Amino acid sequence: MPKRVLSGVKPSAEMMHLGNWFGAVRQFVELQETEQNYIFIADFHALTTVHNARQLRANSREIATEYLAMGLDPRRTVLWRQSDVPEVCELAWLLSCVTGKGLLERAHGYKAALAEGREVSMGLFCYPILMAADILAYDADLVPVGEDQVQHIEMTRDMAEYFNHTFGEVLRLPEARLAKGFLRVPGIDGQKMSKSYGNTLGLFEDEKTLRKKIMSIVTSSTPMGQPLDPETCTVFALHSLFPGEDLEVLRARYLAGEIGYGEAKKLLVPKVLEAATPATSSRFWPTGRGGRDWWRGPPWTAAGWPRASPMRSETEAWGPSRRSWGSRRRWATAATSSISRLSPGPWNCCCR
Ligand code: ATP
Ligand code: MG
Repeated sequence: MPKRVLSGVKPSAEMMHLGNWFGAVRQFVELQETEQNYIFIADFHALTTVHNARQLRANSREIATEYLAMGLDPRRTVLWRQSDVPEVCELAWLLSCVTGKGLLERAHGYKAALAEGREVSMGLFCYPILMAADILAYDADLVPVGEDQVQHIEMTRDMAEYFNHTFGEVLRLPEARLAKGFLRVPGIDGQKMSKSYGNTLGLFEDEKTLRKKIMSIVTSSTPMGQPLDPETCTVFALHSLFPGEDLEVLRARYLAGEIGYGEAKKLLVPKVLEAATPATSSRFWPTGRGGRDWWRGPPWTAAGWPRASPMRSETEAWGPSRRSWGSRRRWATAATSSISRLSPGPWNCCCR
């Protein structure tokens, strides 16, 4: 039986990066061969950081184009924009009513924001609830994500359990699916590569920009001729995204002190440029790599969203048409028509 796969990328920057591709999107492309693939553009989530509607829309189109360019096939993957299905916000509210604040206070993203002294909006604080609603609304079995999102999937399972315990068995518990070997791709500063940290190597960056960024990767001050440690080197970690004989030769040269960081960085440039190769054989590949106006190409209508494909009809069935959501919104019926079995919720004992 094919599994229901669900995941997404936030349009929080102009372009997907290597971490998004190796950690998540490559899995989306693989899974569409055998499973039921549901992939969305998480624009509501991006609103925690992007407050310019024009920018958000442009970023969303880019992510959509990159999905298609990198191999998501609209005939095999249902593709939509999160905000087209506002019912997830309804489910998010219902989940928030059975979820303890303590659970959310343990979220890594929230804790990092506090530690950095950033202002925390309710959107950021409640992010895991909206993410849970995204997943649970579509009865997902599998959620392909990078390592940073595993905690959110665990929280999603917790929230589904609180809900089911309170209102009856309505929500399906999902599992995270991690890409083998590419759990956490480092950025040029050695932290997790993240759109919001400004430390990314974009999948479609032009060669000049890419070279400049790669040459600026932070490394240790080990002098030339000394052995380098591949295990702790960000440049080597990025080389590891491209396994093969070359990588083993590079490892040996690191350990023997036969290579400096400068050369290792130069060798990385063509590899990263090649990461976007699937796009060149896609019928959605726009002319001019890295050009800012690709999305004006054939897949887009004047409104900017794909039309002529099964995914469109499927999302329409799930999205704007309220009637077709009637039976799917079983969570609302369960929460508002059934008698709550527990008062207060089960979270009271475990998540304070
Ligand atoms: P933001 O900084 O806005 O959170 P992001 O770069 O973390 O953006 P997301 O849109 O949050 O990207 O993540 C989309 C998918 O890519 C998620 O499944 C996430 O786990 C995965 N991902 C993001 N960054 C990495 C990374 N550095 N290594 C592996 N997977 C990653
Ligand atoms: Mg993220």
